[in-house]
Amino acid sequence: MSKDNSLNKKLNKIITETNGLSVFNTLELLCYEDLDNQESICIKDFIKKLKLFNNDELEIEELLQHPVGIAFYDFFKSFPLKYNEEHIHLTGSLSAEFIYPRLKKLLEGKSRDVYSQKIKNIYGENALPINSVKDVENLIVLKDGEKFSKYLDLLYLAKIILNTKQDHIDAAYHMANELYHKYNVGSIRLKFTLSRSTSDEKESILNEDLATEEDVVLGLYEGFENFRKEHPDFSYVLSPSFRKEANFFDNIKFKTKKESFEYQVNYLIEILEKYPFLQNVMKDIDTVGDEKNIYKKAHFETLKQGVRKLQYYGFKIRSHHGETFHTLKKGVQAVDNALNIWNIDTLEHGLSIGINPNYYFQRLLQKVLKLNQSSQPLGPKSMEFREIEEIPWNENNSTIRDKIISGIKLNEEEILEFTKIKFHTSIEIERYQHDVLNRIISKNIGVVGLPSSNLKLTTAIPDYKDHPFSWWEKKGIKLGIGTDNYITLNTNYIREMLIILFSDAYSLKITKLLMVACKENRRAYISNLLWKMNKR
Ligand SMILES: [Zn+2]
Repeated sequence: MSKDNSLNKKLNKIITETNGLSVFNTLELLCYEDLDNQESICIKDFIKKLKLFNNDELEIEELLQHPVGIAFYDFFKSFPLKYNEEHIHLTGSLSAEFIYPRLKKLLEGKSRDVYSQKIKNIYGENALPINSVKDVENLIVLKDGEKFSKYLDLLYLAKIILNTKQDHIDAAYHMANELYHKYNVGSIRLKFTLSRSTSDEKESILNEDLATEEDVVLGLYEGFENFRKEHPDFSYVLSPSFRKEANFFDNIKFKTKKESFEYQVNYLIEILEKYPFLQNVMKDIDTVGDEKNIYKKAHFETLKQGVRKLQYYGFKIRSHHGETFHTLKKGVQAVDNALNIWNIDTLEHGLSIGINPNYYFQRLLQKVLKLNQSSQPLGPKSMEFREIEEIPWNENNSTIRDKIISGIKLNEEEILEFTKIKFHTSIEIERYQHDVLNRIISKNIGVVGLPSSNLKLTTAIPDYKDHPFSWWEKKGIKLGIGTDNYITLNTNYIREMLIILFSDAYSLKITKLLMVACKENRRAYISNLLWKMNKR
């Protein structure tokens, strides 16, 4: 037996016999097992690296690629219950192997010039020619340093190959098959765009080629059902998603965003009435897109009536909120209004209610003072600028704000005053945040955590270990895990589990993580499955 296999076996034995302790406890006990010299060195090396990671001195990748990290991966992959993927989008979760042959057809078809031009517009002049799976992969996977706006663009290739009903059947089956076999996922909550019609030039797709809303829904249904016939333990939820940006609608067909949304709502209800079997699988909706400009009460009014109508037809409302925001306060405000005005059942991302405001504002102070003391102004588009603008200055201290913004050095007295204002601002926001958080807990609103997506796409958290998942877990929030767009983000469900686990290696118990991932609250049952794993 190879060394790695023996290590896997020994790790599994400890996890199963201890009923899933924290990673550190598990590894500590593993050290007392009968290990050969190499194994012992390997585990000690991992423990050392885990500590460095928790100390901000090492990248998560070094843990994930480590033999012990891989042993943990294998453990989760072979766990006998399947996982619930709570947040995955269609267009960012189709592999390059799936996209390439379909794209090739388009690029050789009658509208090749239009497609070529669109691809160049989005991905740049060098994007073409596309001659292999690898070429597609290069275009659809997010590169280091690329953030949210680029990310929405990257989904374009997957969008243009999803045209007919058959395309949607194939896509759903492909996704189910990949996730089920590769990542032990047995349940998928799929977010997909019902209507792709928009007047946004960059986003619009050749209209003659578009599948109807009905084709999209029925196609996805058929694809997943086909997979379920082969694997009866597989399940799924179709979650139509609506873009929430004020300008994202077809302004030729509709006068307002409100009108366009309500048209889609009515159409969705019509589809359900026409095909009642869909009621079992299409039970919720989501709102997606760039949410930065949607935080005030008035912003939520546009979709309010449509959302309410859906609720009366039995839909649960999920919403992407608190993921990206102009300022932390606006991020909390967005969640607050989504709760109050849309009455959401589940919050997707929710970072703004997971970031510690005292930490956040201290870092702001440090960054701003560093710039100020070297006489540098704040960039008008920077997060620092927006936060400084939003602090409630008064006539006695607003000169401090002006000096910070224009890069005029503050004196000691002014620095002290700035620190005081920062202190009170962060406490105020913390109070607001906890008020919203407590409402989430008392109303049992779900929160779905998406560590890789949050780290790669936003600047809200500095590192994986700063993701609030484990903090939320301790607060008793009903949690779920998602990968968002796992192909675009170059991740997968088990990887997300490991990121969560390694990020709180001292106190998050493996069993607890399994219970969240499997949506299984019968603890004894999980213990029994662990025990059986050991015997296999
Ligand atoms: Zn998402």
